[in-house]
Amino acid sequence: MISAELIRQRVAAAGVVGAGGAGFPVAVKLAARADTYLVNGAECEPLLKVDQQLAAREAAALLRGLRHGMTATGATQGVIALKAKYREAIAALTPLLPADVRLHILEDIYPAGDEVITIWLATGRRVPPAGLPLDVGVVVSNVQTLLNVAAAVDQERPVTRRTLTVNGLVKQPLTLTLPLGTPLREALALAGGPSRDDVAFIDGGPMMGRLLPSLDLPVTKTTGGLLALPHDHLLIRRRQRGDAAQLAMARTVCEQCCLCTELCPRHLIGHELPPHLIVRAVNYRHAGPSPDTVLAALTCSECGVCEAYACPVEISPLRVNLLLKAELRAQGLRYQGALRPADPMARHRLVPVSRLITRLDLDLLNHKAPFQAMAYRPEKVVLPLRQHIGAAAQPCVATGERVREGQLIAAMPQGALGAALHASVDGVVVALDAETIVIQTSEPTCLTPSP
Ligand code: SF4
Ligand code: SF4
Repeated sequence: MISAELIRQRVAAAGVVGAGGAGFPVAVKLAARADTYLVNGAECEPLLKVDQQLAAREAAALLRGLRHGMTATGATQGVIALKAKYREAIAALTPLLPADVRLHILEDIYPAGDEVITIWLATGRRVPPAGLPLDVGVVVSNVQTLLNVAAAVDQERPVTRRTLTVNGLVKQPLTLTLPLGTPLREALALAGGPSRDDVAFIDGGPMMGRLLPSLDLPVTKTTGGLLALPHDHLLIRRRQRGDAAQLAMARTVCEQCCLCTELCPRHLIGHELPPHLIVRAVNYRHAGPSPDTVLAALTCSECGVCEAYACPVEISPLRVNLLLKAELRAQGLRYQGALRPADPMARHRLVPVSRLITRLDLDLLNHKAPFQAMAYRPEKVVLPLRQHIGAAAQPCVATGERVREGQLIAAMPQGALGAALHASVDGVVVALDAETIVIQTSEPTCLTPSP
């Protein structure tokens, strides 16, 4: 059997990062000791259809990635958390499960994919506020991350591609795999382009994704999706509202109904985090009822339930928290409150995704987006040197140099937190600066559907 040390070395060499959004270097995660390795296959952001399809199509590889994760961390049980509606993934995985791995079937609720909530639902353990999954003996990775681990360990194949969903107002909603660095504009074109003119775009899911300033931005290791929405959709308008307008709204219309706190998932499982009190404290510029009240903003997961679902008057406690987080972190402050008892109604207060989709006015935009296999070669890829938490990778190629797909083009300095970067296409390095490496492919763009 392959050793834990060799697994970590190959995962580090392949530049594997958490594909779920934050981009934490996985080799660092695999150096921890835990008793449980949890596969987060919840994918609870409406409209994104990546992990549920990958788990069905690549069940054996997913289990190999999980096995490597368990070996590296010493975990004695593996748990794969999937929603009941992902029937194809469940059918593909069930006959392959070894004795020490089980499926945990989740209801279709939001945010089942917030790792703290997934851990609670799948194992009953509660991560303390400001804590880590490791505090309760769990390491968590999503499906695409573990597929990258399997490729890194079994084939020494670096991360050069990313699977994402293109959904919403596009002519052919789909899920596809593209070389890293492909401009999002080309992902949109592969989905047939927008189905009407007046659209705006979100990078990621409707709840946690960000408004895209430009479709020239590239696909990265953490790009989960590209959503096209009407330019005046509430999710677009909300993201365009400035901080001053958000704070003014909170000050003038918050009625202290407490719904944001009653539905906050972190609050429900026993974290102090009381968004209504934080909004009140900010509105009236006081510290709140306890010294930790405002500091609790640091424990907000940014799931968006308070803003998108709970508040009846369109206030965003999430945005208030984000502003506070920036201020509190700049002051070096930390939250130190203890875990409290969970709300006895917690399981019943998590938000049904079907209701969330309706509330977000997404019923007509939530297409299946089936996986489409294709070999796509962009004319040019733009590869950010920082697609992960930590320091930027340091280029180890020069302008004018010819590179091959999979070749190391930027490495991490010894001891620095981060992830190596590899060429995602064959081509020539045509530009290089402190932030990106640009590779021009040797042939024009072509699209080759796989047989
Ligand atoms: S839900 Fe809205 S109105 Fe109610 S307390 Fe929270 S921010 Fe204020
Ligand atoms: S975004 Fe809102 S609902 Fe979600 S954890 Fe933060 S305060 Fe709670």
